[in-house]
Amino acid sequence: MMQMKEITDIKGTFKLHNGVEMPYFGLGVYLSKDGEEVVNAIKWAVDAGYRHIDTAAIYNNEDGVGRGIAECNTPREELFVVSKVWNTDQGFDTTLKAFDQSMERLNLDVLDLYLVHWPVNGKYKDTWRALERLYNEKRVRAIGVSNFMQHHLDDLLSTAKVVPMVNQMEFHPYLVQQELLDYCIAKGIQYEAWSPLMQGKIFKLDTFKALSKKYNKTIAQIVLRWDLQNGVITIPKSSKKERIISNSDIFDFEIATEDMTYLNAMDRSKRFGPDPDNFDF
Ligand code: NAD
Repeated sequence: MMQMKEITDIKGTFKLHNGVEMPYFGLGVYLSKDGEEVVNAIKWAVDAGYRHIDTAAIYNNEDGVGRGIAECNTPREELFVVSKVWNTDQGFDTTLKAFDQSMERLNLDVLDLYLVHWPVNGKYKDTWRALERLYNEKRVRAIGVSNFMQHHLDDLLSTAKVVPMVNQMEFHPYLVQQELLDYCIAKGIQYEAWSPLMQGKIFKLDTFKALSKKYNKTIAQIVLRWDLQNGVITIPKSSKKERIISNSDIFDFEIATEDMTYLNAMDRSKRFGPDPDNFDF
């Protein structure tokens, strides 16, 4: 199933199942250092037009993300800020507390999207109840999960009152997981890509070198555009000004259907990050 969603510009959005508009292009800040590094990354990104920032408690940079948001040239309401509850904080009360702590570091009143970072066995349903509470109390505009395979989602949905609005997964041409993607589309769960650039390894692939020549775009621009044309939200990470700007220059071209099909068929179930069915943290 290929989604036909309209892609317009860097501020464009996909509508979540509760009606909230989520910018489909954002800045990832995993491994961006707290302080000047992440503050500058956010300012450069917002100046380039980014409206979505993806952090997590475990990234240890929520203070800097909050500063970047406060110091950038755009009102808070125009930004879409995402954070995640870390594994050791999962459970009902502990998640509520972790949320308060994240919000204090971010210096925000309302978060746009809060995610369960990993499906911690025996815990994620209680964690989800806490997210439902935060959502009902309007402390967060949307709630979702990350690294949830279909069986985790089926299990969660068997008791959930709110269907997750988003599932953020490792996603790139070597890990498409088309069945999971189709399942999420069918349930109204917006799919989102982490490590869209294969954590930097995509730059060595010949297919991408060839497409880069064909379209006269960088390899990063090709793969990020491929995400969006698949209907998948994407959050490339960089803390370098030039790359932050150039990664977002993907709204002046379109990947042809035959190249989309070819790239989707490159899937080889290859992960560069941990396996959601077998992680020990
Ligand atoms: P990524 O695929 O975005 O790759 C980032 C790497 O590519 C960095 O080393 C960066 O310096 C390099 N890079 C970026 N743009 C480049 C360019 N134009 N040319 C050359 N090199 C370039 O990897 P990521 O950081 O793992 O993923 C993106 C974001 O996804 C993270 O920052 C984080 O917000 C999120 N994430 C979430 C999870 C999760 O479990 N939910 C896991 C990993 C990452």
